[in-house]
Amino acid sequence: MIRGHEPVKQGERVAVIGAGLAGTLVAEGLHRLEAEVIVFDKSRGTGGRLAAARLGELSVDLGAPGLNRSQRSALEALLPETSMPALSLWLPGAANFNLKPVSGPQLWMARPRSSGLTRALLNGIELNTRVRIARLIHEDEASYRLEDETGIVQGRFDRVVIAAPAPQAVSLLECVPELQQAVRKVEMEPRWILLLQLEQRPDRLAQLEWLEGEHPVLQRVWSDGSKPGRSGETWAIEARTDWSRQHVGDSPEQVQSALLQAFAALCTQPIKPVQQRIHRWLYADAGRQSLPVFCSDDARVLVCGDWVAGGGIDGAILSARQLLERVSP
Ligand SMILES: Cc1cc2nc3c(=O)[nH]c(=O)nc-3n(C[C@H](O)[C@H](O)[C@H](O)COP(=O)(O)OP(=O)(O)OC[C@H]3O[C@@H](n4cnc5c(N)ncnc54)[C@H](O)[C@@H]3O)c2cc1C
Repeated sequence: MIRGHEPVKQGERVAVIGAGLAGTLVAEGLHRLEAEVIVFDKSRGTGGRLAAARLGELSVDLGAPGLNRSQRSALEALLPETSMPALSLWLPGAANFNLKPVSGPQLWMARPRSSGLTRALLNGIELNTRVRIARLIHEDEASYRLEDETGIVQGRFDRVVIAAPAPQAVSLLECVPELQQAVRKVEMEPRWILLLQLEQRPDRLAQLEWLEGEHPVLQRVWSDGSKPGRSGETWAIEARTDWSRQHVGDSPEQVQSALLQAFAALCTQPIKPVQQRIHRWLYADAGRQSLPVFCSDDARVLVCGDWVAGGGIDGAILSARQLLERVSP
């Protein structure tokens, strides 16, 4: 039913809604195909779930801690060498939550914050931040009008790529009911994360930068300030998905206190952060599902994102690749 293939033309106006990894990869690819690409994001910057947050003067990654080897390879396979952002390798000293050493992950990331990756992909491409697109209106055969949440028209486009998480994409798909129906079925999981700046490193974590394993509350804990190009004694305390689901409606203060307590128990000492910031990602995780369709009949409205192609950073990269294949000459 909805299987379009219409190659993008030189100078064609394309809007990309969402400047996360999937949206910026698509924008980069379309820009190389000589489309006129304009990217919108409701946040202050790029990255989405690879964004960074301010903790006073410091910048701390708020989403995925980095790319693993296969994710970096998938990125290299998709991008020409000239577009591949510089990524640095991090090999954190790792342990399980009993502080027994384990072999840690190998992670690649941009400096000085993860959002440097998406920012680099948008080199030479128009980016409009703090613009939440609220409506997509099919004006005539070949034109879509974008309106933001205040009703301001943000432009008319030949083609629109929606690279927002599925629950946020649904309301933008009124004009493509079959696609909207498929996207409505996608479920995403929440995740709480606590960012801390400490006066000094807890003694028990002196040699450690990464903790993971079995724990009733915690998924992973990492020393964000130890990543390449970062500074400060900053830590990210990530809650488990099932715990986050159970506590999704709790107040930020309650969750902050629970995660801080779990972290202090690991360190066997009270923790008094210099600064802290709690964040609830309502749509952190897309699971392993894949969407059976991802564009309108004429390939003029397309969706992409981790939730389209199996979840995670792998899914975001794969969905961008599939979309670009669909619109390439
Ligand atoms: C804490 C955390 C840890 C994670 N760890 C890992 C990991 O270890 N490994 C892994 O593979 N994955 C991990 N992930 C998941 C990974 O980060 C995501 O799968 C990936 O970054 C998703 O990219 P995306 O481009 O599909 O979506 P997003 O990054 O969510 O980008 C979507 C963008 O759309 C914007 N947007 C939404 N609605 C609108 C609108 N109406 N108008 C304008 N803009 C809009 C948003 O602001 C956002 O910037 C983690 C995620 C989180 C939150």
